[in-house]
Amino acid sequence: MAYNLYTSGMAHPADDIISAMRTASAEDREIIKRAYDFAEKAHGDEKRKSGEPYIVHPHAIARHLAEMGMDRDTVVAGILHDTTEDTPVHIDEIRKEFGETVAFLVDSLTKLSKLKYRGMERHVESLRRLLVATASDIRVIIIKMADRLHNMQTIEFITPREKQERITRETMEVYVPIAERLGVGIIKAELEDLCFKTLEPEKYEATRKLLAERRSELEEKLEEEVKELKKQLGQNGMRDFRTETRVKGVYSFAKKLEKKDGEIELVYDLFALRIIVKNIEDCYRVLGIVHSVWRPIPGRIKDYIAFPKPNGYQSLHTSVLTHRGITVEVQIRTEQMHRDSQYGVASHFGYKAGGGTSNMVPIQWIRRFLPHLMKTGAPSKERVPQWMRDLTDAQGDLPEFEVLDQALKEDFFAERMFVFTPKGDVIDLPVGATSVDFAYAIHSSIGDTMSGVKVNGRMVSLESNLNNGDVVEVLTKKNGMPNKKWIAFAKTTNAKKHIRSALSRAEKSA
Ligand code: MN
Repeated sequence: MAYNLYTSGMAHPADDIISAMRTASAEDREIIKRAYDFAEKAHGDEKRKSGEPYIVHPHAIARHLAEMGMDRDTVVAGILHDTTEDTPVHIDEIRKEFGETVAFLVDSLTKLSKLKYRGMERHVESLRRLLVATASDIRVIIIKMADRLHNMQTIEFITPREKQERITRETMEVYVPIAERLGVGIIKAELEDLCFKTLEPEKYEATRKLLAERRSELEEKLEEEVKELKKQLGQNGMRDFRTETRVKGVYSFAKKLEKKDGEIELVYDLFALRIIVKNIEDCYRVLGIVHSVWRPIPGRIKDYIAFPKPNGYQSLHTSVLTHRGITVEVQIRTEQMHRDSQYGVASHFGYKAGGGTSNMVPIQWIRRFLPHLMKTGAPSKERVPQWMRDLTDAQGDLPEFEVLDQALKEDFFAERMFVFTPKGDVIDLPVGATSVDFAYAIHSSIGDTMSGVKVNGRMVSLESNLNNGDVVEVLTKKNGMPNKKWIAFAKTTNAKKHIRSALSRAEKSA
């Protein structure tokens, strides 16, 4: 192995990324530093809108990914994620330097960013489908979420105002729901607050102030209460637990306040006290102790352990009135449930029962996540293929991530591919479709008058197969006519149907 400058212990700008990782071998360190230097060089003098050097952006993302416990390839792809888009770097160079997986992740992210957002209704759906397609490796979406989070954190520098609003609405409509479905609670809450702040700055500020005032009013009392409860838990034989308090997010608080007609007293979960214990049995024991110390508010006990939320969230919830008259929501959960609620699917990366690291995603997660993502429209059981239902009903042993990955590629995602118009619209086609299918998928008049096609900027023959992620530009000719031969290589019924009818129309008028 190459022994370079960095392995000799000199400080490097990527050091904080490395130390945020759960584990990093000497090889990991070397590769991360190399990726950092590669990205820094590739971005050159490029600046962020804030005026900072561009590398600040991938740096922030990579550190966040490392903090989330993601594996080395994900962190490296985070560092490199914008290099093939804005710089002369070619994906082959990344493949050569950093391997197949990193290249795949970076390439997928580049394809995702080609998608332009142009109005809500149509494009949200397209974007969601594209995310699903790219999710044949879930790490793509996790990096994309971290990317979006940092872009939202620095949105104030984006001009004009309309662009800011457009990015924010897209975040709210697309990324927040995906964060929710992935169960990445901490990203979801932060994205929501950033969107709220951008779209309704005054309302955001007023709500934030209200929340801060309430907090400083009650914080000290709450601390006393928690101290007492901990003592009680100890006296009742609970040794292995920890607590933390969380204050509701600004956006989530505003929503709740609206629901309660502005009655702040009725927002019971303004403060949550989390009690994190060793196992499920202890969760129920702690619930009993909490109820014997503080008075539970009737109708506020929720057993999300026995009945998890649709995104898989698990915890026991109860709202109580403390001795000092504060209402608090108590959330009782195990360490794993806690990690799940913060990081969702990401919490399963890099951890393996019995030590070591792995990219295995447990079946519990698959069971909760996939049916959600697959329901792009109204929930319908019919849209979930049988193999997937079998998988999600499975009990017992956890399938390997690779097995699931393969199954996804072969049975679900591979059926469809997504290609782009030059304007960034997504066209969803079956695998093996040609540019003729593409043209007819846009509009029959485009198909009928098609005279040539450029794929990724190069002229190709009409019958050549398109690939996932291609950018396709259809050239048309006034008064053009489809050719009978097209029927032979068109893949979609839609295209064949239109070719036939155009030909028969022409015959009749001849
Ligand atoms: Mn980026």
